[in-house]
Amino acid sequence: MKLKAFNHVTGDFLETTIVFEEQNPSKCLIGRHPNCDFILNSPEVSRVHGLILYQHQAYYYIDLASTDGSRINNKPAAVNESFLIETGDGIRIGDFFVFMEFEEISAEYDSDILLNSETQIASTKTLIPQQSQQKETIVKCIKIIDETEDTKTFCLVAQPPILFNSTSFNYKPGQFVILDLEIEGKPIKRPYSISSSPSRPYNLEITVKRVSSPVNQSELSPGLVSNWLHDSFKVGDKLKISPPMGDFNYFENSHKKLLFISAGSGVTPLMSMSRWLCDTTSDFSLIFIYSVRTQQDIIFREELEFMAAKYSNFKLVINLTGKEFDLNWSGYRGRLNETMLSEIAPDFRERAAYVCGSEGFLESVQTVLKELNFPMNKYHQESFGLSSGIKPAFTSPITDTSQKGVVVFSNSKREVVCYADETILEAAQREAIDLPYGCQMGVCGRCKLRKFSGSISYDNDFECEDDYVLTCVAKVNETVTIEG
Ligand SMILES: Cc1cc2nc3c(=O)[nH]c(=O)nc-3n(C[C@H](O)[C@H](O)[C@H](O)COP(=O)(O)OP(=O)(O)OC[C@H]3O[C@@H](n4cnc5c(N)ncnc54)[C@H](O)[C@@H]3O)c2cc1C
Repeated sequence: MKLKAFNHVTGDFLETTIVFEEQNPSKCLIGRHPNCDFILNSPEVSRVHGLILYQHQAYYYIDLASTDGSRINNKPAAVNESFLIETGDGIRIGDFFVFMEFEEISAEYDSDILLNSETQIASTKTLIPQQSQQKETIVKCIKIIDETEDTKTFCLVAQPPILFNSTSFNYKPGQFVILDLEIEGKPIKRPYSISSSPSRPYNLEITVKRVSSPVNQSELSPGLVSNWLHDSFKVGDKLKISPPMGDFNYFENSHKKLLFISAGSGVTPLMSMSRWLCDTTSDFSLIFIYSVRTQQDIIFREELEFMAAKYSNFKLVINLTGKEFDLNWSGYRGRLNETMLSEIAPDFRERAAYVCGSEGFLESVQTVLKELNFPMNKYHQESFGLSSGIKPAFTSPITDTSQKGVVVFSNSKREVVCYADETILEAAQREAIDLPYGCQMGVCGRCKLRKFSGSISYDNDFECEDDYVLTCVAKVNETVTIEG
C-alpha cells in the first residue's frame, strides 16, 4: 500500500510504500520522530502522531493522543479510537493531508485535488469506529419471541457464523444496526437497537414494536418495516444488517452509578446495557425507570423483574401512563415528573442518565431533569424518532410538484430540481443519484453531507452543523450545492 502526504503550506509531497503482513495485525507509525515508518517533518506534527493499523484485511487510523489532533475527512478523530480508512479518505495531520493508495489503484493524484484538498476530502462518509470490519453482515433468523401483543424479538445468527463480540462484528451495549431490506421490490432501511448483549455473543437480537397508523388517520398506511417484520419475516429468513453504530452506549469505563429511563420500545438499548451490566460488572448501581401505557405493554417484563430480584444493586420501577385504571396495578402511574423521580432515585444527581424513547418523551424527561438541576454533562439519550404521524421518507408519493429549488452535487456536477414537498434525499433518489442514508428521520447521521452554499430548512429541530446537511430531512430553499 502506498501512503502519500501533501503539505499544503510548503507544497512538499511525500510518498512511501508500506508492506503490511497479511496474517498478523501490523502497523505503520506516523509522526516527526525518525523511528516512525512515515516521517512527516513539521512542527505541527507530534513526534508520534498516529498510526495505521492493518488487521483482518482492513485499515484503521488511530490518533495517538497527538498535540494538535488528527482529522479524517475533515472531522476530528477521537484519540486512541480506531477509524476504518478506505480509498479516497484523507487524514489531516498537522499541515499534511495523508492519503492511502491501494495496489489496485494506479491513477496518479490530480494536482487540483491536492491543492483543493481542504474541501475535496470532506467525503460523504461518517467516521466508522473499529466496531466492525465487515461492511454488512447477512443474518438468519433462528427464533422469534413474542414479547407482548405488538412486540417481537428476532434472534439472528450471522451467515457464515461469527461471534457478535469478535472483530468482525464488535458492538457496545446500546448501539443499533440498520436493516437493509427490500419490501415489494423497493429498497428500504430502518435502524433498530440491538437488544441482546455482547456478553452473549452467539446471537444478535432486535426487538421490534409494530407501528400502527397515526391515531385518527387510519387512511394512512401503518409502519412499513415494523409490520413487514412482524407479518412476513420468518424463522430461516435472511436479511442484511449494517455494522453496529451509535454513540449511545455503555462500556467498561462508563459511570457505575446509573439511571436508565425509557418509554415503550425505547427499552431495547437499555435492556442490552442491563444484560451487559448483570453479566460482567459487580459494582454497578442501577435504577431503571420504564414507562409503558398498560401492563400488557411491558416488554421484557419477566427478565427485568428477574434481574431486579437477583441483583440487589438493580432497582426496577415501572410506571403506567395509560388512562385506563388498572385495579391490579399498585405501582407508579402517570408521566414521570419531578416528585416521582426524586422519590424513586433520591441520589439521581450522582448518577449518569441514559434515556431512550420518542422525541416527545426525551423532551419531557429533559424538562424534568433540568428543572431538578440534573448535571446534563451526565445525560445521554437515544431518540427513536419523531412521534408517529410524521411522514416517513419514501412511503407516500410527492403531492406538491412545484419547484422549490435546485440541488447541485459538487462531485458529479449533477443538478436536480427539488419539489416543495421533497427532501434532498428524495429528490436524489428520484433522479437515481446514490446518496448514503440510514434512518430517514434525521437521527442516525448517515445521510450527512457537506454543504458548500445555499440555504436549506428542516420541518423540525435537527442538530446539524451549518456547513453540513442531513439530506434525509432537509428541504432546499433555493439553489444549494452539496458534496456527492
Ligand atoms: C437509533 C434508532 C433505534 C431504534 N430502535 C428501535 C427498536 O429497538 N425497536 C423498535 O421497535 N423501533 C426502533 N426504532 C424505530 C424504528 O427505526 C422505526 O422507525 C419504526 O419501527 C417504524 O418504522 P416503520 O417502517 O414500521 O414505520 P414507517 O413506515 O416509517 O411509518 C412511521 C409512522 O408514520 C405513519 N405514516 C405512514 N405514511 C404516512 C404519511 N404519508 N403521512 C404521515 N404519517 C405517515 C405510519 O402510519 C407510522 O405511524 C429505532 C429508531 C432509531 C432512530
